[in-house]
Amino acid sequence: MSDLFENTDRTELSQMGEFGLIDHLTKNVKIYNDSTIKGIGDDAAVVSHGKKKTLVSTDLLIEGVHFDLMYVPLKHLGYKAIMVNLSDICAMNGTPTQVTVSIAMSSRFSLEAIEDLYTGMLLACDKWKIDMIGGDTSTSQKGLIISITVLGEANEESIVYRNGANKGDLICVSGDLGGAYMGLQMLEREKAVFLQTPNVQPDLEGKDYILERQLKPDARMDIVELLKALSIKPTAMIDISDGLASETLHICKQSNVGCKLYEEKIPIDQLTYNTAREFNLDPTVCALNGGEDYELLFTVSQADYDKIKSQPDISIIGHITDESEGTYLVSKSGNVHEIKAQGWNAFKSNS
Ligand code: ADP
Ligand code: MG
Repeated sequence: MSDLFENTDRTELSQMGEFGLIDHLTKNVKIYNDSTIKGIGDDAAVVSHGKKKTLVSTDLLIEGVHFDLMYVPLKHLGYKAIMVNLSDICAMNGTPTQVTVSIAMSSRFSLEAIEDLYTGMLLACDKWKIDMIGGDTSTSQKGLIISITVLGEANEESIVYRNGANKGDLICVSGDLGGAYMGLQMLEREKAVFLQTPNVQPDLEGKDYILERQLKPDARMDIVELLKALSIKPTAMIDISDGLASETLHICKQSNVGCKLYEEKIPIDQLTYNTAREFNLDPTVCALNGGEDYELLFTVSQADYDKIKSQPDISIIGHITDESEGTYLVSKSGNVHEIKAQGWNAFKSNS
């Protein structure tokens, strides 16, 4: 994890002044979209999505509550902070276009540290051609606070809400689940070891995939584009920030339907599976309750089955039932368990 210590110089933020700092942090900002009429530099940005609808989502991240700088490098934090916002626009089947970034930091942070944060944010913006069009800068008495607002666009008829799932629809998920949670478990374990014996090097060998799932998630814009290319409009969609169980329940509750998920269909990467076992955790429980995978969970009409069945990055994990049938998971051994957002740990899989 040598990139934790990339920028070792220390320039005090107080040397910069607020405007000097803003200029410095935003000097590499690029504008990619025609919809950005005016970006950073005036009292307000100007955005025009033409005939399309504008999508807006905002997110607040507080040090010690949402992230721990002991094991999250600032560059990764910046990258992830942008990606999780883009993910919310993807979950509406929209295209993210602009972000505003507001930060408050204590004097503990150097200019170089905040530069790393911005390097990560701009890397994420560059990946999906997002314009950073403004923000606000302040000091805080303690710690780092980041607030990001994302704007996106979509044709009115292509927007997908959480409330459109119908009985008989197929429940689909992109990528694989539980990896981000296992990455976090690894980092927490190494942090505990480090706090006890600071001269021991962290042992994260061979765990790259799950560490990346935790530290460097990607918004699934590619899935939004794939669905469009396949001419599939999901009936409902949500991004997986809190775990498959909780997000499935959101769709079911808002759509007034029930569901049946099949444990054997839930996509779990081999490294995630093995690491969960190492930690004496049930891999399925990690996928259901772990969270932070930022994959897309969506429902499609049965008529779309042929289009979606052989997509390698999409798994069909169940189907929507009548509301009166409840929300259930069928385990690998054929037992049926009610899906609950919490307290679900009581389930013991036979895998
Ligand atoms: P105001 O006094 O109107 O709040 P500022 O001096 O704070 O304006 O900001 C000047 C410009 O820089 C504005 O366009 C604002 O959106 C942008 N800006 C301020 N802070 C940040 C930041 N941390 N990241 C990106 N843009 C910023
Ligand atoms: Mg301001």
